[in-house]
Amino acid sequence: MTSLPTPFTQRMRALLGSEFPEFLAALETPSPTSVRANPNKPGQLFAPDEYDGQIPWCPDAYYLKNRPTFTLDPCFHCGAYYVQEASSMFLAAVLRQLQDARPLRVLDLCAAPGGKSTLLASLLSRDSLLVANEVIKPRSAVLKENIVKWGQDNIVVTSGDPSRFAAFPGAFDIILVDAPCSGEGMFRKDEKAVGEWSENNLRLCEERQKRILSDIWPALRPEGFLIYSTCTYNPGENDDALQWLTRDFAAVPVPARDTFPGITPTLCGQQFYPHKTRGEGLYMGVVQKTDGETFTPKKEKRQPDTRPSAGIKYYFPDSRNFVFYQSGPVIGAMPSRHADFIRQLESRVNVLYKGCEIGEDIKGKIKPSPALALYSRLDKDRHPCLELDLPAALRYLRREDIRMEAPRGEWTLLSYRGFPLGWAKEVGSRLNNYYPKEWRIRNL
Ligand code: SAM
Repeated sequence: MTSLPTPFTQRMRALLGSEFPEFLAALETPSPTSVRANPNKPGQLFAPDEYDGQIPWCPDAYYLKNRPTFTLDPCFHCGAYYVQEASSMFLAAVLRQLQDARPLRVLDLCAAPGGKSTLLASLLSRDSLLVANEVIKPRSAVLKENIVKWGQDNIVVTSGDPSRFAAFPGAFDIILVDAPCSGEGMFRKDEKAVGEWSENNLRLCEERQKRILSDIWPALRPEGFLIYSTCTYNPGENDDALQWLTRDFAAVPVPARDTFPGITPTLCGQQFYPHKTRGEGLYMGVVQKTDGETFTPKKEKRQPDTRPSAGIKYYFPDSRNFVFYQSGPVIGAMPSRHADFIRQLESRVNVLYKGCEIGEDIKGKIKPSPALALYSRLDKDRHPCLELDLPAALRYLRREDIRMEAPRGEWTLLSYRGFPLGWAKEVGSRLNNYYPKEWRIRNL
């Protein structure tokens, strides 16, 4: 690892006291590799001898003995699992404490690339709604890709500045602010973070975090919870930010119910250190709002809902709890329970994806969407399906030609180990590859 900035080591020595040498030694060891399986896409992911134990604070989450080249594993592209740093998955334990039986509206404000959003989506009830937002445009495209691959129908992907959500006072039961930070907890994994560290940058991060928190605060409902996390050790970005909230806003700290060996309790949250748990540095804390406005989505006078053709209904038969929408040529479905809110959201924030995209209805002929192939509730039995071996799956993911027998002229679902990858259509002696260009594997 490149040498650590002296003011950083001085700060850490002051913070950790006699534990400091252990902390430094842990930074010289390799980062553990960990994955979280998608509970809605069960199947075989790795060989039994590749696993290296369960992550104690999160369901479906495992350490791996080695780091495979995930890009060359089709299961990774199917959304069958997410590669996520183990400490970040502590969000599962925190959410368990806050969730009740009601359907919730949850906002993940700083969501790209989507690690915590996919975790939230797996843990929330099906009738809850997750809004996954990322302000930086190129990063929001990656977030959308990961959400589509995760294959749920109760997620909306948006790209807006936190201040945009001021238009929805009291709208969210839970808001996660996984704030942009100085990244000290990532030094072992990401050498760039070491190079970017400076005392001046700590101050800039602290100011930006307060700005984000105050911008988003009105969108939290009374008695709602704000989960705040960073991947840094600097108390100025962690406990100080939550203490500032409790001092200047109507907020009270929520003590952690579940804790695990090695996690260090702090004044307002919990801190992970690499010498005490198998993971990187992370801070997470919760406050509850004690006043504010309550929110009711507007019942807007609107155009009648899109009437799907028989073809669209064939591809998406489960129409009972959904309304259909049309966006340009694309038809999709979104949960009826949240449709008014999603429409209202669209009037103020850039919505990149909602519910499940089904396909394009081109004069009664359906061109199914790549998102539909990856939808975890797709009725696979309705479609011709071809199982690919590893080389063929990788050719498909590179958008190369596939030569295989397939039903004439029909949309065929291609899968790997039973996990759908996408669509192809027979033309002559080959299959036309409909894997999205922007998702294809390059240079490997
Ligand atoms: N939650 C993500 C996950 O688990 O995959 C990681 C989020 S990362 C720690 C912080 C995110 O905040 C980045 O995607 C970054 O682009 C975004 N961000 C940067 N500046 C921001 C701002 N001023 N307001 C909101 N988000 C910002």
